Amino acid sequence: MSIKNSNELLQALESLPLFDHHCHGIVTEPLQRPEFEELISESSSPATCGTTRFDSQVGFQIRGACAPILGLDSFCSPDEYIAKRATMVPDIVNSKFLKAAGIETFGLETGHSADIITSPSELHQLTGKAVHEVIRLEKVAEEVAEKFQNEEGSDKVSAFLDELDATLYSRVENAIGVKSIAAYRIGLDFSPNRPTKEELSRSVAKLLAQDGKIRLADSTIIRYLLWFAIDTAQVIQLHIGYGDDDVDLHQCNPLLLTELFRKSIGSGARFTLLHCYPFHREAGYLADVFPHVYFDVGLAINYTGARAHAVIAESLEVSPFGKILFSSDAFGLPELYYLGAKLFREGLSRVLNNFHKESNWPLEECHRVARMISYENAARLYKVE
Ligand SMILES: [Zn+2]
Repeated sequence: MSIKNSNELLQALESLPLFDHHCHGIVTEPLQRPEFEELISESSSPATCGTTRFDSQVGFQIRGACAPILGLDSFCSPDEYIAKRATMVPDIVNSKFLKAAGIETFGLETGHSADIITSPSELHQLTGKAVHEVIRLEKVAEEVAEKFQNEEGSDKVSAFLDELDATLYSRVENAIGVKSIAAYRIGLDFSPNRPTKEELSRSVAKLLAQDGKIRLADSTIIRYLLWFAIDTAQVIQLHIGYGDDDVDLHQCNPLLLTELFRKSIGSGARFTLLHCYPFHREAGYLADVFPHVYFDVGLAINYTGARAHAVIAESLEVSPFGKILFSSDAFGLPELYYLGAKLFREGLSRVLNNFHKESNWPLEECHRVARMISYENAARLYKVE
């Protein structure tokens, strides 16, 4: 296909298949305005009195770009939007946005609020597209720990570790990769070393002695999980940067992982740094210098809205183009899949078009780079056709 002008480049990008390598399911229940507003913010607090989450980049995108998908005027009021949405069957709302997103392949992370969002098979049913599971390491460890929590006996630590290993082996067999939320639980400033047996036993004993719901926030056990994933040559997704308010953002700079990357070169494991904002330039540097590091600017694209193209442009500064991935990081709302895809396509097209105009990049080459970031890099990395 030959591309003759900027318009044709945008058109070509609008129809490119996307591989959304990091996203979550959607809620299938009808939503009231407070619940909807909760899902368009990373904060766990309600909007400050006298303000609304709709007055934000993502809120403006919903009113501007999502309203017409539901048959409303662009920039209708938030109340009109929510009222119209509430009259529609949730499955219809979901399939309208998912269809408009044009995502061909999903990497669905199943470790967060799995009881309220669609599973991989449900998402497959809604879209008819390929949905691959990504398992959350900490969640698997918590689920196994809950089985041993109230057990007596001196050998429960080793019994837990045996079962953890067996569960991890069987779960990764049906997944395209694993994810760690080390950033949320311990920050990224942890030792890059494999834990010793003694350290691990002490930490597991403490974990199993927890009362109530188990919460894994122990750096020794999390390092054990990461090294399991490195030793079994997984694709390891790591939360980096921007996210919910239980993350300490100052502990989320991916440069803190430099030594872990050095130690795992040649292991066969590959790391994908997720979201990364505002550390996406650091992530681009790491993707450049380490052969097994990749990154995306998902999530940030939706939440920077009209500025998404600027974040995308920065992600194309020092990283090799073969190491950049697309993700929506959509959670809960189908709107977030649609916006993630739309803003990515438009932003990337605008950035590449500028490179064409200002630096004489041939349009065919712009299109090739777009195909890599949209799909081909992820397909190669996850070994998915
Ligand atoms: Zn996510």
